[in-house]
Amino acid sequence: MGRGREKIEFDVLFVGGGPANLAGAIHLMQLATSKGIHLEVAMIEKGAEIGCHALSGAVLNPIALAELMPDYREKGCPIEVDVRGEELRFLTETSQYRVPFVPRYMKNRGFHIISLSRFVRWLAEIAEGLGVNIFPGFAGKEVRYASDRKTVIGIRTGDKGLGKDGRPRANFEPGIDILAKVTVLGEGAGGSLLREVSGALNIFSGKMPQTFETGIKEVIELPEGNYFLSSRGNVIHTFGYPLGLNTHGGGFIYQMKDNRVSVGFVVGLSYRDPMLDLYEEFMRFKRHPFAQRIISGGRVLEHGARTLTSSGYYSIPKLSVDGAVFVGTGASMLNAPALKGIHTSMKSGMLAAETMIEAFQKGDFTQDTLNCYQELIESTWLKEELYRGRNFAQTVSKEGLIKFFHLGAQYLTGGRGIIDKMPIAKDSDTLKSLRPEASPRKKVKAVYDDVLFVDKLTGVYLSKTQHREDQPSHLVIHDPKLCVEQCFRTYRCPCTRFCPGNVYELEIDENTDEKRLKVNPANCLHCKTCEIKDPYGNITWTCPEGGDGPKYTIV
Ligand code: SF4
Repeated sequence: MGRGREKIEFDVLFVGGGPANLAGAIHLMQLATSKGIHLEVAMIEKGAEIGCHALSGAVLNPIALAELMPDYREKGCPIEVDVRGEELRFLTETSQYRVPFVPRYMKNRGFHIISLSRFVRWLAEIAEGLGVNIFPGFAGKEVRYASDRKTVIGIRTGDKGLGKDGRPRANFEPGIDILAKVTVLGEGAGGSLLREVSGALNIFSGKMPQTFETGIKEVIELPEGNYFLSSRGNVIHTFGYPLGLNTHGGGFIYQMKDNRVSVGFVVGLSYRDPMLDLYEEFMRFKRHPFAQRIISGGRVLEHGARTLTSSGYYSIPKLSVDGAVFVGTGASMLNAPALKGIHTSMKSGMLAAETMIEAFQKGDFTQDTLNCYQELIESTWLKEELYRGRNFAQTVSKEGLIKFFHLGAQYLTGGRGIIDKMPIAKDSDTLKSLRPEASPRKKVKAVYDDVLFVDKLTGVYLSKTQHREDQPSHLVIHDPKLCVEQCFRTYRCPCTRFCPGNVYELEIDENTDEKRLKVNPANCLHCKTCEIKDPYGNITWTCPEGGDGPKYTIV
């Protein structure tokens, strides 16, 4: 293996072009310059360009950005609008109520509404200006280890030009080994390399399982004279309808500039009903009279979906191993109660950068030195913030009104609540098997106008998702028979409903009743929901060859 492969060596390799790694790379270069250390630093990103796969709410708490670049406004940070205030609304099927009290951790005054895609492009320009070599279109396919099998020495990028059958085509280019003294994994939620490291080095041992939420989001252009011009708050969150109070999640509507809004819907993947269709819930939310009051007459400009790691403090893995550190939401650096992960991810990248500088000064890249990253986290506001929300994901994943009692107790006790280190089930374990007597979930009236209400396939089109068709499927179904037999019987193939990209379709032959799960990997939005929620662990999401997937520009 590896004979004839190109090898490139750097001092530091960042895998993933998100806010954690970009803030980390910028801070690393700033510190290296101030200390007179010369570093060769690289960053790879699986999207065709930096920002292509960046999707988030996104309200930015600027605390980490201000530490990184106090003059971020002067440097041209692409802020859509500043937050003027926030509203929390409880929705019933036909009405809505303004909640008079917004929890302090959901207050956003002084924060900024951004497009994450634009924001990370801007960060990438700054990083490049400081000397970081950024390589978009390269997917990290596997982790490379030293001969001791425990020291990470870099990654191998995916082969390009393989056919569907896995055989090289005329344009075949083997992946390259990018080696580094320190590899920083910041792939975002559900990262496949972090999963690999976890299997090899047990970094999640003794931790609470990571749990996730999936968000579907659109940027909608509104007619002139829209709601936000007269409202007090330009950040709106909702709960209640359509999920009800037993399933965690809700909607959001944020003002953007140029008469646009970002509208999204988030569902906690701890949900139990196998018939729940994430996309339909989003459509229900958009059709609610309250949402309609804001978005009616609008036009969807861009569409996307992504999971985020919501489990927080107790699911943070061991953050360093020999030769590698783990940053960002993949490492559970998200403040779930505040619904924010950009600033916490950035801070984790920055603290990793401080640790790396120390490692270069000592010339020691083992865990002994890199462990300092964990210690730095413990001594900063990042720990405080994450620790306050340490029981939140567990609580909201529960059914019944008792969870509001727990949330109240946590609110009053700085996150401790009545049971500290509350347990939680893995998202893949929470689906209830179908009961024949269960009444099916009322179907949403599927009226799509291709303007404000787009179907799943049009959504994929509006995400500008593309994959080279003649490549091996990046979605590995380990046992296709299990899907159409056991999974169909027990859950009616929930992948056909939790996937927002219409990637999984159940085909039933009318004459023979034979079933087949058709997989359309070309539609994949790279949200990772399928690997996380699949009740049998039968789906593995792997990186396509690089440069594929969505091409977000404004979500
Ligand atoms: Fe998301 Fe999986 Fe569907 Fe791709 S196939 S869009 S990762 S759920």
